[in-house]
Amino acid sequence: MKLFGAMEVKDNELFIGGVSSTDLINKFGSPLYVMDEKLLIDTCKNYYKNFKCLENNNRVAYAGKAFLTKEMCRLIDEQGLYLDVVSGGELYTAYKAGFPLEKIYFHGNNKSVNEVELGVKLGVGVFVVDNLDEMKRLNEISKRYNKRQNIYLRLTPGIEAHTHQYIKTGQIDSKFGFAPVGEIIMNAVKLAIDCENLNLTGLHCHIGSQIFEIQPYEDAVEVMLGFIKSIKEETGHIIPELDLGGGFGIHYTDDDKPKETKDYCSAILNKVDEVCEKLNIQRPILTIEPGRSIVGNAGVTLYTIGAIKEIEGVRTYVSVDGGMTDNIRPALYGAKYDMTIANKINNKCNERVAIAGKCCESG
Ligand SMILES: *Cc1c(COP(=O)(O)O)cnc(C)c1O
Repeated sequence: MKLFGAMEVKDNELFIGGVSSTDLINKFGSPLYVMDEKLLIDTCKNYYKNFKCLENNNRVAYAGKAFLTKEMCRLIDEQGLYLDVVSGGELYTAYKAGFPLEKIYFHGNNKSVNEVELGVKLGVGVFVVDNLDEMKRLNEISKRYNKRQNIYLRLTPGIEAHTHQYIKTGQIDSKFGFAPVGEIIMNAVKLAIDCENLNLTGLHCHIGSQIFEIQPYEDAVEVMLGFIKSIKEETGHIIPELDLGGGFGIHYTDDDKPKETKDYCSAILNKVDEVCEKLNIQRPILTIEPGRSIVGNAGVTLYTIGAIKEIEGVRTYVSVDGGMTDNIRPALYGAKYDMTIANKINNKCNERVAIAGKCCESG
C-alpha cells in the first residue's frame, strides 16, 4: 500500500500522524475513518497557490460530497477555500460549522423547494442553476425574501472524459445542466437575465470525476469561453465568472497515474489566457472544484477482520466489520483500493483471498 502524508510504518504497524492503528481502534472502535489533517492542509495550500487565488482572485471550492463534517468545514475555511454543497444536509453542516455562507456554491439537479428556500434564507453565495424549473422556483423564492440571488448556469460542454460511465457528467446526454442543443442554452441565459431576482454572474461545468488527462479540461475551457463570447454577442450580457468543476484523478492503486495539482492548474490557467486573448474577451474570475483530490489520499478506513472462511479449492473469504455502508464505491462501480494488514504490515501474505464486507449482498 502506498503511504501518504503522515502515514508511516513502525514496529510492523501502520502509524497515522504518529498514532498506531491499534491504538486508534482500541480507542474509537471500527470501522473507523482516519483523516490526516496535515496532508489536508498541505493539499488545500497547494491548490490555493497553484490556482492563483491570491494574485488573480481565482477560487478553489472544495466539493463537500467527498467528505464533509463540521471540522472539515472549519479547515476548508481556514485555508481560504470556498465550498460546494449538493444537499440541504451539507448546507446545514456548513451553517452549523460557521462557514461563511457567501462562499458556498449550491449544486444539484433536483434541489427541493425546502432546499432552495433554505439556501436563499441562509444567504448562500451562488446557486448553480441546473434547469428551468429550478430557475423559476429560485426567482420566486428570492423575490419572497426580497433578495437578488447570484446564479451560475450549469452547462454540459459535450466533452467525453475517459472515466467510468457512472461518473461522467459533461456529455450532452446527461441529467445535469443545460445542453448545447438547439437554443436551450441561449434561452436559459435570456430567461435568467429577465428574472428580476436573479443575477447571472457565471457559467459552470463539471465534466466528470477521476480524470487523469489534462486535455478534457483544456477543451472545456475552450467551449465555455466560447459560450461567454456568444452570450455577450447575442445579449450584451457580460459573464464575469467561470467555474470549471472538479474531477482531478487520484491514486487508489498503482494502476492510477494522476498528474500533479500544479499541472492541472497551470494548464487550465494558461488555456484560459490563450483563449481569452484569441476571442478578445476579458479573463473571468475562475473557480475549480476539487473534491476527492483534496481528501482522498488523506483518508484511511480501518476495519477489524472477523470471520475467515476457506472453501477448499474455491476461495478464502476474509470478512471485515464494514461494507457498502461505509464504502459503497466497490459495489457501485467496481472501484479498486489498496489495502494492507495495518497491525502486521511487513508480514508477507502469499495467499490470494477475497476481502468481504458484512452487508447482505455479494457486491
Ligand atoms: C463531484 C463534483 C465535484 C468534485 O469531483 P471530484 O472528482 O471529487 O473532484 C465538483 N463539482 C461538482 C458539481 C460535483 O458534482
